Amino acid sequence: MAQEDVFKKIVSHCKEYGFVFPSSEIYDGLGAVYDYGQNGVELKNNIKQYWWQSMVLLHDNIVGLDSAIFMHPTIWKASGHVDAFNDPLIDNRDSKKRYRADVLIEEQIAKYEEKMAKEVAKAAKKYGEAFNEEEFRRTNGRVLEYQAKRDALHQRYSDAMNAGPDLNELRQIILDEEIVCPISGTKNWTEVRQFNLMFSTEMGSTADGAMKVYLRPETAQGIFVNYLNVQKTGRMKVPFGIAQIGKAFRNEIVARQFIFRMREFEQMEMQFFVKPGTELEWFKQWKETRLKWHKALGFGDDHYRYHDHEKLAHYANAATDIEFLMPFGFKEVEGIHSRTNFDLSQHEKYSGKSIKYFDPESNESYTPYVIETSIGVDRMFLSVMCASYQEETLANGESRVVLKLPAALAPVKLAVMPLVKKDGLPEKAREIVDSLKFHFNCRYDEKDSIGKRYRRQDAIGTPYCVTVDHDTLTDGCVTLRDRDTMTQERVAISELCSLIEDRVSIPSLLKKI
Ligand code: ATP
Repeated sequence: MAQEDVFKKIVSHCKEYGFVFPSSEIYDGLGAVYDYGQNGVELKNNIKQYWWQSMVLLHDNIVGLDSAIFMHPTIWKASGHVDAFNDPLIDNRDSKKRYRADVLIEEQIAKYEEKMAKEVAKAAKKYGEAFNEEEFRRTNGRVLEYQAKRDALHQRYSDAMNAGPDLNELRQIILDEEIVCPISGTKNWTEVRQFNLMFSTEMGSTADGAMKVYLRPETAQGIFVNYLNVQKTGRMKVPFGIAQIGKAFRNEIVARQFIFRMREFEQMEMQFFVKPGTELEWFKQWKETRLKWHKALGFGDDHYRYHDHEKLAHYANAATDIEFLMPFGFKEVEGIHSRTNFDLSQHEKYSGKSIKYFDPESNESYTPYVIETSIGVDRMFLSVMCASYQEETLANGESRVVLKLPAALAPVKLAVMPLVKKDGLPEKAREIVDSLKFHFNCRYDEKDSIGKRYRRQDAIGTPYCVTVDHDTLTDGCVTLRDRDTMTQERVAISELCSLIEDRVSIPSLLKKI
């Protein structure tokens, strides 16, 4: 099946099974805003817990914070967001569609890379075992030609972005590369304009002279302006980190690909404060630690890759993305940045207050450097959904849709089903739910045939189901069914908790990091 179709199926699955709904749907929705349904909210909370515990429980030098969404507007001046948090946009006059100029060019660069990859794949097939990719890339005329075009475009694009960006040059690149609008197929482009991504609103009544405030576009600044509060009251010593999960808002120009790019989304960010000069060492360490966190979910190491940034933001001295293989290609899920002391120094300058750290060991005061790990909850949710969604043909010829979610992230851990709705079986099943519900999320299900009930649980990723039958009333045992293998075993009710709890708990995942 084409990857595009797989993605469409995942989107409709999310809606059909109560994971994600379009916001305000009965009013025809609101662009790039989504709501999480009864199963989605559980999965999302489990992802957040997995992240939070991996930061705050596993590191005794990392603590949490929950700062407000509204902050003093000068913070966004100091951070550079008022002046520089812009995307260059361009419109196609025929389709009236709006695009990010930088994305159009990046896609063109990717096209050259795809062409090279195709040539390599063709040759690999032709030459079989004897194929030497490195030599082929070095000597093949076509590959060299694409490589040269790609490099020249990349250089021109980087120069244009670093020069402000140079909006005329960005437009010229689009014209020279003959990039067409995917909808109209024409090159009838407008000028490129800058567009600030921050939402603003007014605080206080207008009569008092209302103040323009912004909805935060990242959670990080709440950590920076509180870092000394936390350091002093928590008696933290550098190196230490502050973790935060919270909403962020960006007025994205092109919001597509479902919950990949939203206007209201959630971030999990951790800022790690280190001694100047040690930041690149810590950057390396966090890069590795974060990849391990992703890989512990068990989707396969080939689903991840690093993308080191060549073009660094003005405040960074190293940056990488962790990319995940979505049905629409490798895409950024998390960013890891060495942000130097840019943010803290800026806040010092704009607030006029000293926020230096006093190091009791060296007896000196300094502004710490910062390593940031920043991951979108919603993008993480999407990557988990995409990796878990599977359609299987069973031995009896039937097919099933199963979400092979890591058990610790699954919304429901155990479904308890009476074989029939009589003879005391429902009561027994409810008794089991009542005794286990304090340990993990259980669901009682009595409607439809057992087969249908299994399918329903498979579709939401429930790792275990138990069936209560007539024998249960006399032997105290139930049939425990495994989602992935579909094997069934007879187990005592008294053993259920210990059998399941360990396998579905967040610590079971944390131990794999
Ligand atoms: P992109 O290049 O995709 O716009 P970014 O580099 O601007 O992302 P950061 O500012 O580094 O993203 O934000 C950190 C993380 O927050 C991203 O890795 C992503 O997971 C998430 N994120 C950023 N923007 C959005 C969005 N509009 N919708 C959902 N998640 C987002």
